Amino acid sequence: MQITALAGGVGGARFLRGLCDHLRRRSDLSDARLTIVGNTGDDITMFGLRVCPDLDTLMYTLGDGIDESQGWGRVGDTRTLQGELAAYGVQPQWFGLGDLDLATHVARSQWLGQGATLSEVVARLGARWGLDRLGVTLLPMSDDPVETHVVIDDEDGRRAIHFQEWWVRHQAGIPARTFTAVGLDRARPAPGVLEAIRGADVVLLPPSNPVVSIGIVLGVPGVRDALRGCAAPVVGVSPIVGGAPVRGHADACLAALGLPTTPDAVAGLYEDFLDRWLVAPGDAAGMRRRRGLDVLERPLLMRDRTSAAELAGAALDAALDAGPRRG
Ligand code: GDP
Ligand code: CA
Repeated sequence: MQITALAGGVGGARFLRGLCDHLRRRSDLSDARLTIVGNTGDDITMFGLRVCPDLDTLMYTLGDGIDESQGWGRVGDTRTLQGELAAYGVQPQWFGLGDLDLATHVARSQWLGQGATLSEVVARLGARWGLDRLGVTLLPMSDDPVETHVVIDDEDGRRAIHFQEWWVRHQAGIPARTFTAVGLDRARPAPGVLEAIRGADVVLLPPSNPVVSIGIVLGVPGVRDALRGCAAPVVGVSPIVGGAPVRGHADACLAALGLPTTPDAVAGLYEDFLDRWLVAPGDAAGMRRRRGLDVLERPLLMRDRTSAAELAGAALDAALDAGPRRG
């Protein structure tokens, strides 16, 4: 049983940890393996170090090292090194990097500098967090650098800033005119990405940001075609509940595409390959009818690990119940 999921950071990680928790209790699926294709459009170079926020959030969450209250970074971390950099006036200071977390970025940057690919680096980092023992393969969407930038208008005129500066420093408070993922059109899928989709028995889209997480992964040439053509049913979970994102600024991201903040608008972004769409109780009534798309109402809030496991189990059951698309 091969399960493949595309994912961003916090929403994706909590859902997929829930899936692993759920699978551990399913004796009928004890052979299940999960391959996660992680967004790398959030990646950024800071203090000379390559930082991959979504991949690290996935790795720390699945490996039980996450700071649960923030949703990102290492539990029990300190900010000694960044404080020292601040004393020297080194920028940026708007992006928090803990001391334990920095070790990950130092290791990654050293290995990349020695010629390793990002996939190789992710595998080496993931080994320490026991991902393989969990039956999880974490893949970056691409080994080629991709960076999401946001075009804004401010006192400096029209300019593009890194996604992280828009999201973290400005809290998505400056209207985004458009997103542009630098390098995406030329990015090659990382080894194993297309194979994981084509060979999947089930494909899941966690409730990750549809524009700057899933949307970027879908933009890697070949990924969308693989999803359209695969035999596995594709089941997605809405990140929008009752007209608002559960956390984060997906509303500001959808607005940049001229879309309302609704589960229907998000489903529209996936409609060429989506088979089943999980929405919150009461939200199905607002869904347009689409040929080939079943809409199911399920409790969508991941309040804790138990409810996340229940949500992931519901998505998996919806896929198993749908069965393969063809023969
Ligand atoms: P990021 O990269 O850290 O922003 O994380 P993702 O892109 O993976 O996920 C962000 C999305 O997860 C947001 O749009 C949230 O609305 C959604 N999300 C967070 N928590 C929940 C939840 O408990 N239930 C659902 N349905 N969506 C959630
Ligand atoms: Ca992210």
